[in-house]
Amino acid sequence: MQNTFTSKESFKNAFTLKTSNLFNKEVNQTTVYERYVVLATLLNETLNENYNKTNQYVKENHLKKTIYFSMEFLMGRLITSNLMNAGYASVVKEAFDDFGFNLNEVELAETDAGLGNGGLGRLAACFLDSAASLGLPFYGNSIRYQKGFFVQKIENNKQVEYPDPWLDKEFIWEEKREDESIDIPYFGELNGIQLVNPTWVKAVPYNVKVVGANNNVVTHLRLWSTEPSKKQLVQDEKYLKMVSKISESLYPDDSTDEGKILRLQQQYLFSSAGIQDAIREHKALGRDLKDLPKYYTFQINDTHPTLIIPELMRILIDEEYMGYDEAWSIVTQVAAYTNHTILAEALEKWNIELFKRLLPRIYQIVEEMDRRFRLFLKGKNLSQDKINHMALIGSHDVRMAHICIYGSFSVNGVAALHTNILKEIELNDFYQIYPEKFNNKTNGVTHRRWLMHINPELVNILDKTVKGNWRKDLSAIKELENFKDDESIQKEIKNMKLAKKRQLIDVIYKDTGVKLDENAIFDIQIKRLHEYKRQSLNIFHVIYLYLRLKKDANFRKTFHPQNFIFGAKAAPSYVMAKYIIEIINRTAQIINNDPETKDLLKVVFVQNYNVTYAEYLFPAADLSEQISTASKEASGTGNMKFMLNGAITIGTMDGANVEIVDYAGIENEIIFGLSAEEVTQAYKANSYNPRKIFDNDKRIQDVFEFIKSLDKDEHYFDFVFNNLLNVDYFFVLADFDAYVEAQSRANKLYQDEKTWWRMSIMNIANAGFFSSDRTIKQYNEEIWHLDTIKL
Ligand SMILES: *Cc1c(COP(=O)(O)O)cnc(C)c1O
Repeated sequence: MQNTFTSKESFKNAFTLKTSNLFNKEVNQTTVYERYVVLATLLNETLNENYNKTNQYVKENHLKKTIYFSMEFLMGRLITSNLMNAGYASVVKEAFDDFGFNLNEVELAETDAGLGNGGLGRLAACFLDSAASLGLPFYGNSIRYQKGFFVQKIENNKQVEYPDPWLDKEFIWEEKREDESIDIPYFGELNGIQLVNPTWVKAVPYNVKVVGANNNVVTHLRLWSTEPSKKQLVQDEKYLKMVSKISESLYPDDSTDEGKILRLQQQYLFSSAGIQDAIREHKALGRDLKDLPKYYTFQINDTHPTLIIPELMRILIDEEYMGYDEAWSIVTQVAAYTNHTILAEALEKWNIELFKRLLPRIYQIVEEMDRRFRLFLKGKNLSQDKINHMALIGSHDVRMAHICIYGSFSVNGVAALHTNILKEIELNDFYQIYPEKFNNKTNGVTHRRWLMHINPELVNILDKTVKGNWRKDLSAIKELENFKDDESIQKEIKNMKLAKKRQLIDVIYKDTGVKLDENAIFDIQIKRLHEYKRQSLNIFHVIYLYLRLKKDANFRKTFHPQNFIFGAKAAPSYVMAKYIIEIINRTAQIINNDPETKDLLKVVFVQNYNVTYAEYLFPAADLSEQISTASKEASGTGNMKFMLNGAITIGTMDGANVEIVDYAGIENEIIFGLSAEEVTQAYKANSYNPRKIFDNDKRIQDVFEFIKSLDKDEHYFDFVFNNLLNVDYFFVLADFDAYVEAQSRANKLYQDEKTWWRMSIMNIANAGFFSSDRTIKQYNEEIWHLDTIKL
């Protein structure tokens, strides 16, 4: 195949020509950003051929597709992974060397596509990469948010949110498909089952190419934007504002009814558009609607896309004139649901009145579903109490998770422990009725981004030690275990860490002005800020350590310097999370400026933690902080990225940590704290008394005194204390002692180099299971049953 990227010379020619066409400049006169634009444009154009071939193949062979409905896709930058997966990275690197350009610098000119908030969105992005690399017809479906999740700055120790206008610069990887727009109705009144006088909004799709690794497969993520609809006759200012709001931003403030309506509008937008799109395609290919489940699975990523279930019912009944039972049989063969949390706050509910006002016909269908579900449960001889508890509509609310379970043929959790908790506790009532629906799919991460792209130093070591093709099948990485006691390989791993630490030190210094110590233990906690993730426990321990180091000279002698790095965004309306950020930053100010301890301890809170930042942080870590309250973290994926890059987990037996321990061996992690069972028991028995722990632990009292002293004027830290002393729903105080002990173990272990680097190797060698290629294979074998695209 002859294309731009086949040789260095052809690429240089094409690059020169494109630079001239786009910017009317000589190559060496361009800015870094212009170089990026030229490179990305050339790559995107070149990918068209394989994209068209992929589409052609799927169409001609009538391959079944999975459409992955997700509110979030946290893609990060695409240039590097696209270049790498397409196999063009080395040609470009060589050509850029000739030009005297720095490829890495050019790649960094791309803005993160920050269409997500955390792990759930990043998982969706990893799945796109893995599915394309396995040659599966798997497509993402979401919203083209005009603004990404906010940009975080720390000002005055506090989080300040700025908009992320990522689309102000052209997004080179997308392609608008105006002709495939779909009109979506909101509001209106019902005349029988007919919706009259709705407000129409046009959903316009943009396709973002997704490149498989070395298999010529190019799929896409489809993002829906909103524009005024021709069907809408009156287009006043209020209407136009509403239209642009719908695709403006991720997770708009939902403290008002207006905000709630907006969120539900967003959910209906990408659910309805995605479903109508699939049905249109299905019919255009001359296939019978009865056969929809043969050609599609609609995977519901968390409950945000729940509306695809009643929406598909609506289309089949109202537009395709099917009977209810026939329509229901189709729906329950195409929809599959992934549960991501057991936190009550995240189990989505919508007020009936609000739901009904925005989506009258959809509500009517949900009511009918509810009526039938209640009858079905009655037939199972369940008590009225239980039926009310399980129903789709409660006294005030529509319950999204219940609709998902009732309407899907598959319900999966995202780690073994999480799935067990769903089956045994949280969703036990449903599990009793539908045991066959429940299954587990432990999350994973793409090793192409989270190892090959971000850690070439480790790649070099693997290429020397592992004979199997670990790039294609990460489980081959297990061979590295043979070198766990090999001192020269241990040394190489240590040097790899040092190199990654140095790179991170530069990035953090530029970002925050804090210079970290390359000889220190890099102890990193990066994840959304949430009370259950317990950044509070981490900073409490840091404060304890600081106070002890100041007064205990013997302790100072045995202590290895440790640098604590935090990165986290707090949801803008989450008050407690923002206090925790402030406590971390105020503490950092004091510790980093104390001459007595500044060579031993450093604390830094990086600003605007996102995928690009993550790419520097994960490989530089010695310690991976995974300290959630047991039972609360469904899986985690950050834990997997750390492991793959040789960090040791200091964590609770929660989420996928349990499986990390299974694979790497408990002696190679630092595990502490209450178990999920103990936590569950304590809730049940209402037996936990944080005040008592506080009263009996001088260390905790001192930590709290320190925090009080951080801020003499404002009293909002009282709020934190009151919460922890009276409620402490997430057992921070209960695990404090065990965590201090675990941290002390970690510090000692690090000083025993042979043991430490052996542990590090054991983690890398056993990370094979956590490739999202494995996860996607399991989804495919057990849920989707897609055939592969062979080009
Ligand atoms: C992996 C990742 C996450 C998820 O981290 P958890 O520790 O699993 O919560 C969140 N944000 C970014 C940018 C990530 O890369």
